[in-house]
Amino acid sequence: MCGIIGYTGTNAVPYLIKGLEMLEYRGYDSAGIAVTAKGAIQCVKREGRVSRLRKAVDALPFSSTGIAHTRWATHGKPDETNAHPHISKSGIFAVVHNGIIENFSVLRTQLEKEGYAFTSQTDTEVIAHLLEKNYSGSVTDAMRETLPLLEGSYALGILCSEYPENIYFAVRSSPLTASVTPDGAFISSDPSVLTSYTKKAYRLKSGDFGRITKTAVEIFSADGKRVKRDEAELSESDINAEKGEFPHYMLKEIYEQPEAVLNTCRAYIRSGEVFFNSFPFDKKSIKKISRLYLVGCGSAYHAALTGKYVFELLTDIPCEAAFASEFRYSPPPLDSSTPVILISQSGETADTIAALRLAKEKSAHTLSVLNVRGCTMESESDCCFFTLAGKETAVATTKAYSAQLSLIYLLALHMGKLTGKLNGSEYGIILESVMSLPDRIRSATGVLDAQMRNLAKSIKDAGNVFFIGRGTDYPAAMEAALKLKEVSYIKSDAVAAGELKHGSISLIEKDTPVIALCCGGKTFFKTLSNVREVISRGARVICVTDSSHKKECSAFGEVITVPVSHPVTAPSLEIIPMQLLSYYTALLKGCDIDKPRNLAKSVTVE
Ligand code: GLU
Repeated sequence: MCGIIGYTGTNAVPYLIKGLEMLEYRGYDSAGIAVTAKGAIQCVKREGRVSRLRKAVDALPFSSTGIAHTRWATHGKPDETNAHPHISKSGIFAVVHNGIIENFSVLRTQLEKEGYAFTSQTDTEVIAHLLEKNYSGSVTDAMRETLPLLEGSYALGILCSEYPENIYFAVRSSPLTASVTPDGAFISSDPSVLTSYTKKAYRLKSGDFGRITKTAVEIFSADGKRVKRDEAELSESDINAEKGEFPHYMLKEIYEQPEAVLNTCRAYIRSGEVFFNSFPFDKKSIKKISRLYLVGCGSAYHAALTGKYVFELLTDIPCEAAFASEFRYSPPPLDSSTPVILISQSGETADTIAALRLAKEKSAHTLSVLNVRGCTMESESDCCFFTLAGKETAVATTKAYSAQLSLIYLLALHMGKLTGKLNGSEYGIILESVMSLPDRIRSATGVLDAQMRNLAKSIKDAGNVFFIGRGTDYPAAMEAALKLKEVSYIKSDAVAAGELKHGSISLIEKDTPVIALCCGGKTFFKTLSNVREVISRGARVICVTDSSHKKECSAFGEVITVPVSHPVTAPSLEIIPMQLLSYYTALLKGCDIDKPRNLAKSVTVE
């Protein structure tokens, strides 16, 4: 993951620190800055947050040019030694890196034999030493020699003390943009960081390398030829959206869900019908679809799995949901009859981008569900649908997930109509249910907040929490378990309710909390049978259901009641109390809710 920013212009350090603060969502294990001054490179690093680095940068001399990094460790501990920038043997190169150098160990052994002493355990440090080894006066020539030796992915920012006002860069399968602005010239992992200075930036392509000076961006493609890239329009950044009255972004974003869903629905519903401007299938071509794949990572995978159930129900097209990290290396047979829907909030998730590229290679149609405009996946997908959740700052997703679910319902409805599986009245009932989600989500959030705050008191000391469900309740249970573990660090597992008896039930002891999600309609009584099984083993059961089933559930213990909904849209409601419960549990445990340990918002390494 990690965030990279480079600046050359007037006074580098304040620009770099501001950029790092905006990029911190990409990783917060450590941060560092290197600048050129008096013919040398000066560097300051700190373990932990950018706020710690900010206090240390007074030690740096004034400089017009520098590079900076906020890290999400892949190789080597998240400590100060492994923090970037990494400096070459004699100190003439400094390197910041986003990505993974897969063959670093071979390169390192070779360099060590040649007398290069390593100070860190990172994969990145080999790049600094290789550049120095291959340098004889021209940095771009040193890059031409070095880059082909690297296997894996990288976005690099490079300083060379002999060219103190230049910043060099290189990109392979990791995002990086470059721009010359009235304030100075920048490179950045995230283009929205540049929106205070410019409306346009070069989005570098995989294989590109080059340099920025105060007045120009010079780009070479992988074959070494000078290229001109188009400048992409940047959309206004809301990256620093304030928390307002809320103590944490996560709670604010939970409360923003009605708006996120409403805005997403508004964009795609016209005159009582789902409307997509450019939909890749019509009534005839949709018949040629043999199978539909839905691909994502983390919560986006849970949205994809929900999609599998919903698409099969509404379209009769066979569907599979897959983790992008599995799909990319064990792909199913793909061709032009197997469209792939890829879901990613940022549109920069490395595994999902790789899955997208693979699907395209096999001539599968690629449709992406994204929340961030101008992202890599937008530029590479055949067709994109945007959720309008707005900027999501908390690392644990809430509103972007809810917006993804609503867009999936709309896509399934539209395709259900095209296939002829859905008749007019079913279509109308489900669409109505989607359109009323914002109000019902608002009411569930308001009504359940106090109950979840209270329930958190008895969950916070649990060693293990189980979430169970069937049908679409199952991916909702997975999302609930992920939310709780992400922010409160409590071990939580989701089990398909019918699978409990095949193994996981052995872990149920007296008072083990089991949260049963049972809103999905036809499997309600089946899930209740599984609830009985865990109660017999002493579990403490909490049922999440809608008001029409409250009575049956009350017989088993505590009940969390969400508004009644069509079973297709129920996952959007049952997740609300689960998000609140995770939030309040983490709050009671004193966890770093918006930036949980070891995580980052945008996962740009595989
Ligand atoms: N692989 C590098 C490291 O562990 C960079 C990781 C990143 O992209 O954040 O330092």
